[in-house]
Amino acid sequence: MPTECVECGKRAILKRPKNRKALCKDCFYSVFEYEIHETITKNRLFKPGETIAIGASGGKDSTVLAHIMKLLNDRYDYGLNLVLLSIDEGISGYRDDSLETVKRNQIQYSLPLKILSYQELYGWTMDAIVKEIGMKNNCTFCGVFRRQALDRGAAMLKCDKIVTGHNADDIAETVIMNILRGDIARLGRCTSISTGSEGMISRCKPFKYTYEKEIVMYAHFKKLDYFTTECIYSPNAYRGHARTFLKDLEKIRPRAILDIITSGEDMAIKEEVRMPIQSTCQNCGYIASSELCKACIMLDGLNRGRPELSIGKNNKRKKILKMTAEKAKEAGKNGKLNGANAVHDISVSQDVENMF
Ligand code: SF4
Ligand code: ZN
Repeated sequence: MPTECVECGKRAILKRPKNRKALCKDCFYSVFEYEIHETITKNRLFKPGETIAIGASGGKDSTVLAHIMKLLNDRYDYGLNLVLLSIDEGISGYRDDSLETVKRNQIQYSLPLKILSYQELYGWTMDAIVKEIGMKNNCTFCGVFRRQALDRGAAMLKCDKIVTGHNADDIAETVIMNILRGDIARLGRCTSISTGSEGMISRCKPFKYTYEKEIVMYAHFKKLDYFTTECIYSPNAYRGHARTFLKDLEKIRPRAILDIITSGEDMAIKEEVRMPIQSTCQNCGYIASSELCKACIMLDGLNRGRPELSIGKNNKRKKILKMTAEKAKEAGKNGKLNGANAVHDISVSQDVENMF
C-alpha cells in the first residue's frame, strides 16, 4: 500500500529530510514555505518599506532564496522592495556562467539586478589573484573581498538589509569548524540569524533552519533555474571534512543539524569573549579592527607583490601595516593607496570578523 501524506492523506512522494515525515508534493511546498515565513516573522527580520538586497550567486541556495522572498513578499504582504545583488569575483568558467543564471532569474522573478565586480572595486580578479598567490589562501582573499563587495553594492542600492542563502547545514558546519579551531568567539556571530549593529547594513539568514537537502528538493520539484558547478578554485578541505562529518551524523539523526546550531548558540551566550574594538579604515573608510581594513591590507600586499604578508599574524606584517597606515594618512587629501580606488567615497561599515 502506498504511503500516505501525513498532512492530507494523499499519496506521499517524499520523506522530509528534516524529520522523515511522509508528504505529498503540495504539502512539502506548503510546510517548506510556511516554515521560512515563520522564521522571518518570529525573528522580525524585516519591516514594511525596507529595501532588501538578495545576495544572488546563481547557485541553488540563493536561487531558492530569491524565489521564496518574492513569493512570501507577495503572499504575506511584507511590503519589501527586493533587489538581486551579485558579485563577480572574476573566475572564468565558473562565475561568468553562474551570472548568466542570475540574469535569467532576474527576468523570471522580475527583480532589478546589480552586478559588482572585484575588478571594478579592487582592480584585481580572482583569476589574477590565484595567478599571483596560487591555490593556498585564495578563499581568504575572496571571502574578505566578497563581504565588502556585498556591503558596498547594498550601500550603492540604498538597501536596508542583505539576505543571504546560508542554510542550516552551512551554519552547523561553521559551528563545528569554529569549535575545532577553538574559535568560540565566533560562535555568536555565526549562529545569529541577523548580524549588524549601528551604521552597518545588517545581514539576515532566512534559511537558518532550512535543511540543504530540502532546498535541493524544492528547487528540483519546482524546476528552478540554478547553477550547480563548484568554484574551480575551491580547495576548502577543512570545511569539506566538517561537511562529511555533519552528513554522517544527519544520516543517523536528522535533528543533529539543528542541535549543533542550538549548541553553538548556547556556548556563545555563556562565553563572554571580547571582540576587537572597531574603528574605520584610514584608507577606505570601511569598518576595521586596526588602522586598515582587511581588504586594504590584502590589496596592499597584492599590489606590492608580497601577498603572503597580508595573511596571518607576523612581525613583518605588522611593520608593513604600520608603514601602509602612515602612507594612507599622508595620501589623505590627494588620493588613496593603489587599488580599490572606485570604492573610497562609499563609507559603509561591517564587522570585519563576519563569518561569511
Ligand atoms: Fe572564492 Fe574560494 Fe568561494 Fe571560489 S571557493 S568563490 S575562490 S571563496
Ligand atoms: Zn579599507
